[in-house]
Amino acid sequence: MSHDLSKMGRNTQAIHAGQHVDPATGAVAPPLFQTSTFAFHDCAHGAACFAGEQKGYIYTRMGNPTVERLEQAVATLEGGYGGLSTGSGLAALCTSIFALLKSGDHLVGTSSVYGPSRMVIERDFSRFGIEYDFVDTGDLDAVRKAMRPQTRLVFVETPANPTIVLTDIEAVAEIARQNDALLLVDNTFCSPLLQRPLEKGADIVMHSMTKFINGHTDVVSGMIVPGTEALYGQIRKVHYYLGACMDPHQAWLVLRGLKTLGMRVKACQENAIKVAEYLEAHPKVEWVRYPGLESHPQHELARRQMDGPGALISFEIKGGVEAGARLLDHVELMTLAVSLGGIETLIQHPSSMTHAAMPRESRLAAGISDGLVRVSVGCEDVEDLLADFEQAMAHV
Ligand SMILES: *Cc1c(COP(=O)(O)O)cnc(C)c1O
Repeated sequence: MSHDLSKMGRNTQAIHAGQHVDPATGAVAPPLFQTSTFAFHDCAHGAACFAGEQKGYIYTRMGNPTVERLEQAVATLEGGYGGLSTGSGLAALCTSIFALLKSGDHLVGTSSVYGPSRMVIERDFSRFGIEYDFVDTGDLDAVRKAMRPQTRLVFVETPANPTIVLTDIEAVAEIARQNDALLLVDNTFCSPLLQRPLEKGADIVMHSMTKFINGHTDVVSGMIVPGTEALYGQIRKVHYYLGACMDPHQAWLVLRGLKTLGMRVKACQENAIKVAEYLEAHPKVEWVRYPGLESHPQHELARRQMDGPGALISFEIKGGVEAGARLLDHVELMTLAVSLGGIETLIQHPSSMTHAAMPRESRLAAGISDGLVRVSVGCEDVEDLLADFEQAMAHV
C-alpha cells in the first residue's frame, strides 16, 4: 500500500484501514472466510506455519483473514500495535486480566464501570487471588491512595457508565507508570472517533464493539488493542488458548458497521446535544450529566480529552424511582432497553437493570442514584425524539 492510513482522517480509516481488494476475485467488500480450519500445501508447509516460520492460516481460533481485517482496522483507528478480537466486550476484559495479572496482584478500577465488568473482577477474578479496589478515578487523589506496591493494573472507563464521570487519562497513566502498573482503558463509550487513550499514555484499550463500533444492535463482540508489540504478544498468547475468540461472521458484520462509524457518531452526537439541552431546561428534571454541557463538573477535561461529548446522557427526574419509571413506561419511539451506541435511541434505568446486581450501598457510593435514567441517543430526526420526551414527560 502506497498511502499511509495512520496519517489520514478517522472516516477514511474506518472505511479503508485493514481493507484491500481481494486478490483472488477482485471483491471490493471483505470476503467472509467462514471456515474453522485451513488446508496446508504439504507437511513441510504445515510445519512451517506451526513454527511461525511462514505466514499462513492454521485454525480460526488462532487467526482468520476476515477477523484480521477488523483487528487491523480498529488498531489503526486507536493508533495501537494490533488488535485482538473477542466474542464480546466482557471477553476482551477477561482475556486482558487473565494475560496481565497473577495471584497476589492488585487492580485499581473506576467505581462506576460497566456493572458486569466490576462483577467479574469482584466475584470471579478474586477467586484466583487477584485483589482490587474500585474508586472514583475522576479523583486523582483517590487513585494515588488506592495504589499499592502490588498494583499491576489500573482499569478505567471514561466517561464511566452510567454516571458520566470522566477520568483524566494522561494523569492516571502517569500515576500507573510511577507504580510500574499498566493502564487499561475501556473506550466503548467514545469509540476511537471521539477519544484515543493510547495517545494519552494508556497501555491497552478495550472495546465492547457491540456498541458504537458495530452500531446496529445486531452483534455482540469485543476488541483489545495493546499499544506495544510486547503487550500484544503477551495478550495474544492467552487469547489463543482462552477461547474467547471471534467468529468470522461476527467480524464480517462488525466490519460493515464500522465503515459508517464516523457519520453515525456525528449524527448521534448532534442529536444528543439537543436532547441534553432540552432535558436541562425541563422543570421536571433534577439534573443532567452530559460532557457537552457547561454544567458538567468536568466539562473542561471533556474538551481537552475528547473530540466531542458523545451520545450518552444521564439524568434524574424529580420524584426518584417512581417518576423515572413513569417516564420509561410511557416512551413510544425510544426503546426501553439496555445497551448503547446503536442507531436507535435506547433508554434505561440502571438501578433496576444494568446495575441491579450491585448492592445498593456500593451503587449509591458509585454515584448511581435510584432515579438515574440513562439514554443512548440514536440517529433519528431529533424533533421526533424531543416530541417523544415531551409526551412521556406529561405522564410524570
Ligand atoms: C457493553 C459494555 C461492556 C461489555 O460488553 P459486551 O459486548 O456486552 O460483553 C463493557 N464495557 C462497556 C463500557 C460496555 O458498555
